[in-house]
Parts: sequence; C-alpha cells; structure tokens
Amino acid sequence: METVLLEDHSLRDGLQAEARILRLEDKLALFRLLAEAGFRQIQAASFVDPRVIPQMAQSEELIRSVLRDFPEVAVSALVLNARGLSRARACGVRHLSLSSSASDWHSRRNVGRSAAEAFDELLRMIGEARASGFAVQAGIQCAFGCVHEGPIPEERVAAMAKSLAEAGAPEINLADTTGMANPLLVRRLIRKVQEAAGETPLALHLHDTRGLGIANLLAAWECGVRRFDVSAGGLGGCPFVEGAAGNVAAEDVVHLFEQLGVATGIDLSRLCRAVRRYEELLGRRLPGRVCRVLATGVLGN
Ligand SMILES: [Zn+2]
Repeated sequence: METVLLEDHSLRDGLQAEARILRLEDKLALFRLLAEAGFRQIQAASFVDPRVIPQMAQSEELIRSVLRDFPEVAVSALVLNARGLSRARACGVRHLSLSSSASDWHSRRNVGRSAAEAFDELLRMIGEARASGFAVQAGIQCAFGCVHEGPIPEERVAAMAKSLAEAGAPEINLADTTGMANPLLVRRLIRKVQEAAGETPLALHLHDTRGLGIANLLAAWECGVRRFDVSAGGLGGCPFVEGAAGNVAAEDVVHLFEQLGVATGIDLSRLCRAVRRYEELLGRRLPGRVCRVLATGVLGN
C-alpha cells in the first residue's frame, strides 16, 4: 500500500491569527487529540516575537511539555531568524521548519527584511541548524504567488530551491501562503523545482483560500510529492481579513487519500474529536467538510 506523510499545522499556522488566545492546557489537550488521531509529525509552535503573534507567547512551555509527553511524535517548530533559532535550541526541539518568502513585499511585511536578505539568513541558518544536529525542512513562502506582487516568476522559485539544496536542506517545502496556486501551476512549478533541486524531496503547504487546496494537493501527489502540511478543521487565516483561509483541512485530505487507497496512518473519527474541540474552544464552525458528514453517519463508521 502506498503511504503519504501528513504533518498537522493547526496549533501553529492554524492558531497564529486567532484573536482568542488559547490556554496552554487547551493547546496541550489539542496536541494529545492530534497525536491520538495518529499524527506522527506535528508543528506545535513558532519562535516569533510574541508581541506580533500573541498566540505564540507560550511556545517554549508548549514545546517542552509535548517533547516530554509524546516521544513518538516528531514535534516541529517554525523559525524565521537567528533569535528564533537560539530559542529553539534552548527548549530542545529537534525538528525545525526554516523558511523565507519568494515575494519581496511579503518578506518585508512578515519579517521586516527584503526577500534577498531573508533568504541569505535562511541559508546561513540551515548550515547552523544542521551543524547543531537539527532535522531541517527549508521552506519557500509565497512560492505560487503573492497577493500584492501577483505571480512569482517560476525561475526565481527554482533558483531558490537549487540554493537550498546546495546549502544541504534535506527537504524543501513549497508554500502557497495565500492560496494562489492552481493544478497547472503546481505541476509546472514542481517539475521545475525537481529539475533544479535534484533528489531533494519536496513537501507542499497549501492554503485553501480560493477553494483549490485539495485539487492542488492531488496534482502534487500525481507529480510524486509524498508529504503535505494540513490543518485540523482547515483552521487558519485571519478573522480580520476577509477571504483569508487556512491550510487544506486535515480530515478532508485523510478522506481523499482513503478513497485513493493511500495509507495516512490517521484515524478519521479520532481526528474529528480534535476538530470538535477546536470548534468548542474557538466558538465557531471550521471549514473542513468531512467531520460534518461523518457526524451525520452518511460515511458510515
Ligand atoms: Zn501557512
């Protein structure tokens, strides 16, 4: 049976724009529900300035607790600069997602530096993180377009991927940060990046902003991508920005792969417990579809 690796990002990407700050104990309970559903890779936090992203103020405590309580799970954290890297080192996390943006506008807004400066720092950090023994995934944000700059030249993304591979990145993550990809672009860009980055495995991080998340994911799967970031419930986006949306919903992706006969290692009904808990804590319905259908009994089990 073929397999696919899904990494849940609901605790980090999903929650980061939420105005309602969850308590540490609630985040720990959510992590437990995700681990019990079968996720073996979970991105739990980011080491960013808590004044900018208050939801991430407890990253250290959260990471330390889950590292202690869930040795079977590869816990990862997002790091965008040298300060974040030293915080990650101090709390013992071993899996790092390091990334910068292909869009200059997005980079300046997100980290206050030009895309070129941020990318130089990313290359430096990859070397430093690998020398310190971290398992590293290197990411390119806005790889499929930027809401402000529009389409991003595919050659630029391929050149970045080539440099990341040459810097020793063991894996490259292409992020559709604002959901601008379509299946044709996904196929074209993956081919270009595969040519540029050689054997380095690719992962995709797809936001469902325009409803093409699952279609894009399937296109990438057909191009040989075997690793995807997902978010329980499709949690994510920004409650203050109309139309902003989260990653592809974990449960919808698990259901898709079940239908394709591909093993995910995730138990759908247990995953729906995590989705329900998020909905209780946030006081609203999340956009993922399959848990709703499962609750009606139409899907069986
Ligand atoms: Zn994202």
